[in-house]
Amino acid sequence: MLPKFKKYVVIGAGVHGLSTAWHLAKELKARGKGSGEDIVILDKSGVAAGASGIACGVIRNFYFQPAMGEVMRVSVEVWEENQEDFHYNPVGYLAVAGPVQEHDLETIFERQQRSGYRSDLILGEQNVHDYMRAMLPDWKARGLTACLHEKQGGFAFNKASMLGLAAKAEAEGVKILSGVEVTGFDIRGDLVRAIQTNQGTIEADQVIIGAGPWIKSLWTMLGLPNVIDIRTPGGDVVQDQPMWTYWRLAEGEIHFDPKTYVTAEGKVPPVIHIDSSEPLISTKTGNLITDQLWGIYFKPDKQGVQGGATPENLGTSAQLDPYGTQSQLYVVKEDFVDYWTAGLAHCMKRFEGSHKIYDWSPSGGIGAFTADNFPVFDFMLPNVYVIADSNHGYKMIGVGKEVARVLMGEASSVLYPFRFARFSQGELHPVSNSPYPWS
Ligand SMILES: Cc1cc2nc3c(=O)[nH]c(=O)nc-3n(C[C@H](O)[C@H](O)[C@H](O)COP(=O)(O)OP(=O)(O)OC[C@H]3O[C@@H](n4cnc5c(N)ncnc54)[C@H](O)[C@@H]3O)c2cc1C
Repeated sequence: MLPKFKKYVVIGAGVHGLSTAWHLAKELKARGKGSGEDIVILDKSGVAAGASGIACGVIRNFYFQPAMGEVMRVSVEVWEENQEDFHYNPVGYLAVAGPVQEHDLETIFERQQRSGYRSDLILGEQNVHDYMRAMLPDWKARGLTACLHEKQGGFAFNKASMLGLAAKAEAEGVKILSGVEVTGFDIRGDLVRAIQTNQGTIEADQVIIGAGPWIKSLWTMLGLPNVIDIRTPGGDVVQDQPMWTYWRLAEGEIHFDPKTYVTAEGKVPPVIHIDSSEPLISTKTGNLITDQLWGIYFKPDKQGVQGGATPENLGTSAQLDPYGTQSQLYVVKEDFVDYWTAGLAHCMKRFEGSHKIYDWSPSGGIGAFTADNFPVFDFMLPNVYVIADSNHGYKMIGVGKEVARVLMGEASSVLYPFRFARFSQGELHPVSNSPYPWS
């Protein structure tokens, strides 16, 4: 049953809502200011019903933007500290790219060295090729001149990790209420006094929102702007930019005996991300798919290999429900399968013809991206903290830890670069040469 009042109401039982509630409960207890019993999480469906429950689960620090690298550093710490409970596989992450991104990889590597994040950088076409072949003897992609091998990070299993996180929060006394949909806010002055739901109204001192791709609906309920002006770092103002844009993330799997996908040393291979300008040839038709910059990523999975490719821009509106279930939106497109399996075959001989073992189940999902494609972590009203991760965030499990400290009145240098005011202040994040909106 919906209580009449809770000091802290968290909306959304995805990675951010759960992590914030768990860490907040610990902060309250440690400071003698309360406990998890002061916190309730409301979710219109339930734990892991959103993006966190369908994410590929890749955990990496590979970001050109220093502020993103910091978020990932604190997040990987949380994954590492809870490896078993969060079903985390610390196999590492490997980014291989051609000359156009070489400088980006060098910059990221140097920053990782300074921050103590463990990684190696290999430069030069032949060196990269030799490095990859030493690890995976049938590696065959050429034309790649830089390889950043992050020795931390890897992947986790989406739903299992969220259930682990929910158990941590519940063990601290947090209540998670499923089937409670937030439909509006009772706003007096600039404060939310109560949250309206399909199960009644609940009053709160503090609201935390982690609504994943549904953020636009909550944002609109709060009366926040869906179109904003952005000051560029050069000082020009670009007017009327959409605050939210949706991208369809195409992902899929090939199925085979996963025990056969191991490195030369017999270990589970790292997550691999490749961006290349070499011709991409369909293994199904033998036709050229593209000779422009293309990219795929893939990771070991329980039934073979799972991964994805560059996403598709859907514009400013998208049908989000039902999310991750059978629906037209998730029907796998043939051109994605052709592209992704061609990319796999481009990398390794063992994946030649892998379109034949493609699993055609609905896959992928939708992400809501902000006006600059980077997260907004901020108080959008004095008692409403919004965690809008711009679809970067399964890996960002440490954001909740930082938000909990902020809710206790502390400052967070990790979250500060993601304040909403950056758009009007022209303090945007640097842009990389990656073909993805999230690197
Ligand atoms: C296909 C795909 C693959 C991805 N792969 C990766 C990856 O490999 N690595 C990575 O780091 N990130 C990945 N992401 C991004 C990542 O999944 C998201 O950024 C992250 O999970 C968002 O977490 P969240 O807690 O904000 O939202 P969600 O996990 O979406 O949770 C939001 C919750 O809010 C609830 N909710 C929404 N509206 C309401 C309402 N009105 N009232 C009550 N409850 C509500 C929903 O039911 C949902 O449970 C991927 C995303 C997709 C779609």
